[in-house]
Amino acid sequence: MGGEGDNPMAPEGESAQLARLILTLRSQGVTDPKVLSAIETTPREVFTPDLFKERAWEDSALPIACGQTISQPFIVGLMTQALKLEPRARVLEIGAGSGYQTTILSKLARLVYTVERYRTLLREAEGRFQALGLTNVITKFGDGGKGWPEQAPFDRIMVTAAAPSEPKALLSQLKPNGVLVAPIGKGPVQSLRRYTGDGRGGFAVETLAEVRFVPLLDGVAKEL
Ligand code: SAH
Repeated sequence: MGGEGDNPMAPEGESAQLARLILTLRSQGVTDPKVLSAIETTPREVFTPDLFKERAWEDSALPIACGQTISQPFIVGLMTQALKLEPRARVLEIGAGSGYQTTILSKLARLVYTVERYRTLLREAEGRFQALGLTNVITKFGDGGKGWPEQAPFDRIMVTAAAPSEPKALLSQLKPNGVLVAPIGKGPVQSLRRYTGDGRGGFAVETLAEVRFVPLLDGVAKEL
């Protein structure tokens, strides 16, 4: 009796917010139980700045340091599901940002390699991986547009910044039957594309949704 749910004036409890978020994602097509469970068990408030912690369970993108954003949970779910992860997969992520997407990937794959061009963001993300006890995330400060040649080929690649055109360097670091998911486009709205290797060096390309990502920029950031 007297729980938060009974009082329309009381702020919604965290578990109620989380339940609502999962329902929203499911109704919008994120139905893979493993993906939903990874989202459910990843505390998004750990990845959001103090100012926005109360909004951590909203289905919206939020600002993080260095003028970047933590992606909207629905988009994280959609992209993770589209990647068709297998537990043995080695995954490359471009754009660690807050480390939220990295953490979700780390729960569904064997190893996650992530690249970020801002030292500050990477350092903060590394602190979160450590605090959460993740042992299968490997980080690198660098220009992710070039991929991670020393660790290639990868089973899966996820790009969380908008590539201006087909990311050829990254596709060349994918295994023959691998899958790459990336927002592609130069404008404020991009196409979320999935490239699936045909085993002979070619790719099947699908457009999955319209998305809004910060751009994939050349080189590393000069600022911290
Ligand atoms: N996956 C992140 C989303 C971060 S936004 C999260 O869940 O929080 C996109 C990130 O891509 C930003 O942090 C941006 O700095 C980074 N980025 C953009 N261009 C890059 C590049 N060439 N190499 C590496 N990271 C890049």
